[in-house]
Amino acid sequence: MEKLKEHYTQLVKTYREVFVAVLNAMQGEINVLNHDKEKIKNYLDNDVEEHIKLQRNLVLERRKNFECGKCGACCRLAISVFSPAVLLEKASRGDKFAKEFISTFSPYENVEEAEKIFPLYIQLLKESGETVYYYYCKKVTEDNLCSVYDNRPSICRDYPDNPIQMLHPTCSFIGWHESIQKIVLTIKAMTEIREHFRKELEKGNL
Ligand code: SF4
Ligand code: SF4
Repeated sequence: MEKLKEHYTQLVKTYREVFVAVLNAMQGEINVLNHDKEKIKNYLDNDVEEHIKLQRNLVLERRKNFECGKCGACCRLAISVFSPAVLLEKASRGDKFAKEFISTFSPYENVEEAEKIFPLYIQLLKESGETVYYYYCKKVTEDNLCSVYDNRPSICRDYPDNPIQMLHPTCSFIGWHESIQKIVLTIKAMTEIREHFRKELEKGNL
Protein backbone atom coordinates (compact mmCIF):
# COMPACT_ATOMS: atom_id res chain seq x y z
CA MET A 1 0.00 0.00 0.00
CA GLU A 2 2.71 2.48 1.05
CA LYS A 3 4.61 1.43 -2.03
CA LEU A 4 1.63 2.26 -4.23
CA LYS A 5 1.19 5.64 -2.58
CA GLU A 6 4.86 6.44 -3.11
CA HIS A 7 4.48 5.36 -6.71
CA TYR A 8 1.69 7.89 -7.33
CA THR A 9 3.47 10.69 -5.49
CA GLN A 10 6.49 10.00 -7.68
CA LEU A 11 4.27 9.98 -10.77
CA VAL A 12 2.95 13.47 -10.00
CA LYS A 13 6.49 14.74 -9.39
CA THR A 14 7.76 13.23 -12.65
CA TYR A 15 4.84 14.72 -14.56
CA ARG A 16 5.68 18.19 -13.26
CA GLU A 17 9.29 17.78 -14.43
CA VAL A 18 8.26 16.43 -17.81
CA PHE A 19 5.68 19.18 -18.24
CA VAL A 20 8.22 21.95 -17.62
CA ALA A 21 10.77 20.35 -19.98
CA VAL A 22 8.19 19.94 -22.77
CA LEU A 23 6.85 23.45 -22.26
CA ASN A 24 10.34 24.94 -22.54
CA ALA A 25 11.14 22.86 -25.63
CA MET A 26 7.90 23.79 -27.41
CA GLN A 27 8.19 27.43 -26.46
CA GLY A 28 11.74 27.40 -27.87
CA GLU A 29 10.51 25.96 -31.19
CA ILE A 30 7.76 28.60 -31.39
CA ASN A 31 10.14 31.43 -30.57
CA VAL A 32 12.31 30.47 -33.54
CA LEU A 33 9.25 30.84 -35.83
CA ASN A 34 9.24 34.54 -35.10
CA HIS A 35 5.46 35.16 -34.80
CA ASP A 36 4.77 33.60 -38.22
CA LYS A 37 1.23 32.34 -37.57
CA GLU A 38 1.15 29.88 -40.47
CA LYS A 39 4.44 28.31 -39.44
CA ILE A 40 3.35 28.09 -35.81
CA LYS A 41 0.09 26.45 -36.86
CA ASN A 42 2.00 24.01 -39.03
CA TYR A 43 4.35 23.22 -36.17
CA LEU A 44 1.46 22.53 -33.76
CA ASP A 45 -0.69 20.61 -36.25
CA ASN A 46 1.97 18.58 -38.02
CA ASP A 47 5.35 18.48 -36.28
CA VAL A 48 3.92 18.01 -32.79
CA GLU A 49 1.36 15.52 -34.10
CA GLU A 50 4.10 13.50 -35.79
CA HIS A 51 6.11 13.44 -32.59
CA ILE A 52 3.09 12.29 -30.56
CA LYS A 53 2.40 9.57 -33.12
CA LEU A 54 5.97 8.26 -32.89
CA GLN A 55 5.77 8.18 -29.11
CA ARG A 56 2.43 6.35 -29.22
CA ASN A 57 3.89 3.73 -31.55
CA LEU A 58 6.75 3.21 -29.14
CA VAL A 59 4.25 2.64 -26.31
CA LEU A 60 2.40 0.01 -28.36
CA GLU A 61 5.64 -1.61 -29.50
CA ARG A 62 6.80 -2.07 -25.91
CA ARG A 63 3.43 -3.58 -24.96
CA LYS A 64 4.28 -6.56 -27.17
CA ASN A 65 6.97 -7.60 -24.67
CA PHE A 66 4.34 -8.34 -22.03
CA GLU A 67 1.51 -10.80 -21.82
CA CYS A 68 -1.41 -11.43 -19.51
CA GLY A 69 -0.46 -13.35 -16.37
CA LYS A 70 -4.04 -14.62 -15.99
CA CYS A 71 -4.54 -13.36 -12.44
CA GLY A 72 -8.19 -12.59 -13.22
CA ALA A 73 -8.11 -9.28 -11.35
CA CYS A 74 -9.31 -7.12 -14.23
CA CYS A 75 -12.31 -9.45 -14.74
CA ARG A 76 -13.22 -9.47 -11.04
CA LEU A 77 -12.84 -5.74 -10.51
CA ALA A 78 -13.50 -3.17 -13.19
CA ILE A 79 -13.73 0.44 -12.14
CA SER A 80 -15.73 3.21 -13.72
CA VAL A 81 -16.39 6.81 -12.78
CA PHE A 82 -19.91 6.20 -14.07
CA SER A 83 -22.72 4.59 -12.08
CA PRO A 84 -24.72 1.73 -13.67
CA ALA A 85 -27.62 4.14 -14.34
CA VAL A 86 -25.35 6.61 -16.14
CA LEU A 87 -23.72 3.84 -18.15
CA LEU A 88 -27.14 2.54 -19.22
CA GLU A 89 -28.20 6.01 -20.20
CA LYS A 90 -24.99 6.55 -22.19
CA ALA A 91 -25.42 3.14 -23.84
CA SER A 92 -28.98 4.01 -24.86
CA ARG A 93 -27.61 7.12 -26.56
CA GLY A 94 -25.26 4.92 -28.62
CA ASP A 95 -22.05 5.22 -26.60
CA LYS A 96 -20.18 2.10 -27.78
CA PHE A 97 -17.84 1.83 -24.82
CA ALA A 98 -20.68 2.20 -22.27
CA LYS A 99 -22.67 -0.41 -24.17
CA GLU A 100 -19.85 -2.93 -24.09
CA PHE A 101 -18.94 -2.19 -20.52
CA ILE A 102 -22.44 -2.57 -19.13
CA SER A 103 -23.10 -5.74 -21.11
CA THR A 104 -19.84 -7.26 -19.82
CA PHE A 105 -19.72 -6.12 -16.21
CA SER A 106 -22.26 -6.21 -13.40
CA PRO A 107 -22.13 -3.77 -10.49
CA TYR A 108 -21.04 -5.05 -7.07
CA GLU A 109 -23.88 -4.88 -4.55
CA ASN A 110 -21.84 -2.42 -2.54
CA VAL A 111 -18.25 -1.37 -2.07
CA GLU A 112 -17.80 -3.79 0.86
CA GLU A 113 -18.39 -6.72 -1.50
CA ALA A 114 -15.59 -5.55 -3.75
CA GLU A 115 -13.41 -4.76 -0.77
CA LYS A 116 -13.64 -8.35 0.47
CA ILE A 117 -11.82 -9.46 -2.67
CA PHE A 118 -9.43 -6.53 -3.21
CA PRO A 119 -9.00 -4.86 0.21
CA LEU A 120 -5.79 -2.91 -0.37
CA TYR A 121 -6.61 -1.78 -3.86
CA ILE A 122 -10.08 -0.55 -2.89
CA GLN A 123 -8.65 1.19 0.16
CA LEU A 124 -6.22 3.06 -2.05
CA LEU A 125 -8.99 4.08 -4.45
CA LYS A 126 -11.09 5.29 -1.54
CA GLU A 127 -8.19 7.39 -0.30
CA SER A 128 -7.86 9.01 -3.70
CA GLY A 129 -11.19 10.70 -2.88
CA GLU A 130 -12.57 10.10 -6.36
CA THR A 131 -16.09 8.66 -6.64
CA VAL A 132 -15.87 5.43 -8.58
CA TYR A 133 -18.13 2.43 -9.08
CA TYR A 134 -17.06 -1.20 -8.88
CA TYR A 135 -18.06 -3.91 -11.32
CA TYR A 136 -17.24 -7.56 -12.00
CA CYS A 137 -17.72 -10.01 -14.82
CA LYS A 138 -19.69 -13.22 -14.28
CA LYS A 139 -17.89 -14.99 -17.09
CA VAL A 140 -14.52 -15.43 -15.40
CA THR A 141 -13.88 -19.01 -14.27
CA GLU A 142 -12.53 -20.11 -10.90
CA ASP A 143 -9.11 -20.61 -12.43
CA ASN A 144 -9.12 -17.05 -13.79
CA LEU A 145 -9.91 -17.92 -17.38
CA CYS A 146 -12.44 -16.28 -19.63
CA SER A 147 -15.34 -18.65 -20.38
CA VAL A 148 -16.12 -16.74 -23.59
CA TYR A 149 -12.52 -16.11 -24.58
CA ASP A 150 -12.95 -16.35 -28.36
CA ASN A 151 -15.94 -14.02 -28.25
CA ARG A 152 -14.79 -11.67 -25.51
CA PRO A 153 -15.62 -8.04 -26.17
CA SER A 154 -13.06 -5.60 -27.48
CA ILE A 155 -12.74 -3.83 -24.11
CA CYS A 156 -11.30 -7.13 -22.82
CA ARG A 157 -9.16 -7.77 -25.92
CA ASP A 158 -7.65 -4.30 -25.65
CA TYR A 159 -7.05 -4.28 -21.89
CA PRO A 160 -4.91 -2.60 -20.65
CA ASP A 161 -5.02 -0.11 -23.50
CA ASN A 162 -4.78 2.95 -21.30
CA PRO A 163 -1.18 3.45 -20.24
CA ILE A 164 -2.06 5.83 -17.42
CA GLN A 165 -4.87 3.95 -15.79
CA MET A 166 -4.13 2.40 -12.42
CA LEU A 167 -3.48 -1.30 -12.88
CA HIS A 168 -4.19 -3.98 -10.33
CA PRO A 169 -1.07 -4.70 -8.26
CA THR A 170 -1.09 -8.28 -9.58
CA CYS A 171 -1.27 -7.31 -13.25
CA SER A 172 1.66 -8.53 -15.34
CA PHE A 173 1.45 -5.37 -17.47
CA ILE A 174 2.82 -3.26 -14.62
CA GLY A 175 6.31 -3.70 -16.13
CA TRP A 176 4.97 -2.22 -19.37
CA HIS A 177 3.52 0.73 -17.49
CA GLU A 178 6.83 1.36 -15.76
CA SER A 179 8.83 1.12 -18.96
CA ILE A 180 6.65 3.67 -20.77
CA GLN A 181 5.90 6.04 -17.93
CA LYS A 182 8.03 8.94 -19.18
CA ILE A 183 6.90 8.50 -22.77
CA VAL A 184 3.24 8.58 -21.76
CA LEU A 185 3.71 11.60 -19.56
CA THR A 186 5.48 13.33 -22.44
CA ILE A 187 2.53 12.59 -24.76
CA LYS A 188 0.11 13.92 -22.15
CA ALA A 189 2.17 17.08 -21.62
CA MET A 190 2.60 17.68 -25.36
CA THR A 191 -1.13 17.29 -25.94
CA GLU A 192 -2.06 19.67 -23.14
CA ILE A 193 0.58 22.26 -24.02
CA ARG A 194 -0.34 22.13 -27.70
CA GLU A 195 -3.93 23.01 -26.78
CA HIS A 196 -2.67 25.92 -24.73
CA PHE A 197 -0.57 27.24 -27.64
CA ARG A 198 -3.44 26.76 -30.08
CA LYS A 199 -5.63 28.96 -27.91
CA GLU A 200 -2.88 31.53 -27.58
CA LEU A 201 -2.45 31.51 -31.35
CA GLU A 202 -6.18 32.09 -31.84
CA LYS A 203 -6.07 34.99 -29.43
CA GLY A 204 -3.17 36.49 -31.35
CA ASN A 205 -0.74 36.14 -28.47
CA LEU A 206 2.01 34.24 -30.31
S1 SF4 B 1 -15.62 -11.36 -20.83
FE1 SF4 B 1 -13.89 -12.66 -20.28
S2 SF4 B 1 -12.06 -11.37 -20.46
FE2 SF4 B 1 -13.86 -10.02 -20.38
S3 SF4 B 1 -14.06 -9.48 -18.22
FE3 SF4 B 1 -15.36 -11.27 -18.60
S4 SF4 B 1 -14.11 -13.03 -18.11
FE4 SF4 B 1 -12.74 -11.29 -18.31
S1 SF4 C 1 -5.06 -7.90 -14.38
FE1 SF4 C 1 -3.47 -8.02 -15.96
S2 SF4 C 1 -2.48 -10.02 -15.65
FE2 SF4 C 1 -4.40 -10.04 -14.50
S3 SF4 C 1 -5.87 -10.97 -15.93
FE3 SF4 C 1 -6.00 -8.76 -16.20
S4 SF4 C 1 -4.58 -8.27 -17.89
FE4 SF4 C 1 -4.10 -10.34 -17.13
